[in-house]
Amino acid sequence: MKRKSGQDPDITKNWKPATLAVRGGSARTEYGETSEALFLTSGYCYDRAEDAAARFTGEQQGMTYSRLQNPTVEMLEKRIALIEGAEACRATASGMAAMTAALLCQLSAGDHVVGGKALFGSCRWLVDTLLPRFGIETTTVDARDNAAWEKAIRPNTKLFFFETPANPTMDIADLKGICDIAKAHGIVTVVDNAFATPALQRPMEFGADVVAYSATKMMDGQGRVLAGAICGTEDFILNTLLPFHRNTGPTLSAFNAWVVLKGLETLDLRIRKQSENALKVARFLEERLPKVLYPGLESHPQHELAMRQMELAGPIFSLYTGGGRKEAHGLLNALELVDISNNIGDSRSLMTHPASTTHYGMAEEARLEVGITEDMLRLNVGLEHPDDVIADFDQALRAIGR
Ligand SMILES: *Cc1c(COP(=O)(O)O)cnc(C)c1O
Repeated sequence: MKRKSGQDPDITKNWKPATLAVRGGSARTEYGETSEALFLTSGYCYDRAEDAAARFTGEQQGMTYSRLQNPTVEMLEKRIALIEGAEACRATASGMAAMTAALLCQLSAGDHVVGGKALFGSCRWLVDTLLPRFGIETTTVDARDNAAWEKAIRPNTKLFFFETPANPTMDIADLKGICDIAKAHGIVTVVDNAFATPALQRPMEFGADVVAYSATKMMDGQGRVLAGAICGTEDFILNTLLPFHRNTGPTLSAFNAWVVLKGLETLDLRIRKQSENALKVARFLEERLPKVLYPGLESHPQHELAMRQMELAGPIFSLYTGGGRKEAHGLLNALELVDISNNIGDSRSLMTHPASTTHYGMAEEARLEVGITEDMLRLNVGLEHPDDVIADFDQALRAIGR
């Protein structure tokens, strides 16, 4: 191992998350490159047949095939684990690959899962549609209500699955409260932490067992690649996740891992600046619209809880025009700087109409139940000067007569 390796625990143990995001997990090759090397290789060669055999039995350390290991992907996994404060991490090809693997690797027919009602659309599909197809019972609850989690527990309840803040309703789930209930009943908690990232919120500090990510969002942060990650104890990653991951193959490409490594170097800077910009834009919109739901605003019903769990409120929030779909679409169409896009976590300001895009596949009744109404818009505030974003909203609101 080279000097100043981001993989040497004696060196990294006192580093703060912002430092770990730049240097954690880096391992230099013999060339001493400053930026992490990109290993675009599917396989590895061995000097002798006996070495190949020893690699497969695990007697010899080393790589065998990139579905199983890749040096660039491994640097990313080590870096994310370090920022998260987790023992281990495994990267995946997308956030949904991470969520699917985090659930299926530990569930079997006959188990019961409780999920938050307000979930990212595809996460809701896993809970409502995929798991039941394999004999796994599921219940959804209002994730804001701790008593509802407790009440939903059955003798075969194996796992709690939720996100906070939730996409796109900005519901806040009480990490400590829910994890305590789960622990008391021997239930595993899987938290989707895509909105906050480990730079703002570390669910394991509140007792979460598994933390899963769409690294497509703030971790890449520049709208370039899809990626995901699953963090947990070494025992969980090695003995529960790895057999599933290695044999089913939701593996992250080395190139995408490299892009996310570069993204992580600026994660701390970006998320702080975007949170600051989002608060300014939210304060402006709050004056002009009937409702803005941003956990960083005092008006958010769970502002206090959010600020106990999160360092800052992040770049994303939802706003309600008070009209119907026509008015919401009208506002989107009138924007000149903010793009109409359903991506989030980008350095560009992006806005979407969830009911007709990200959550259109959800039954109308289920949508309305969690507050995804026809007048709701979800905004990701980017790194542009906040005054320019505010000016754009000012002109667009005027254009639709507000
Ligand atoms: C985007 C997102 C996902 C899915 O991630 P992909 O990288 O798009 O597969 C899951 N959960 C949340 C909260 C998300 O925002």
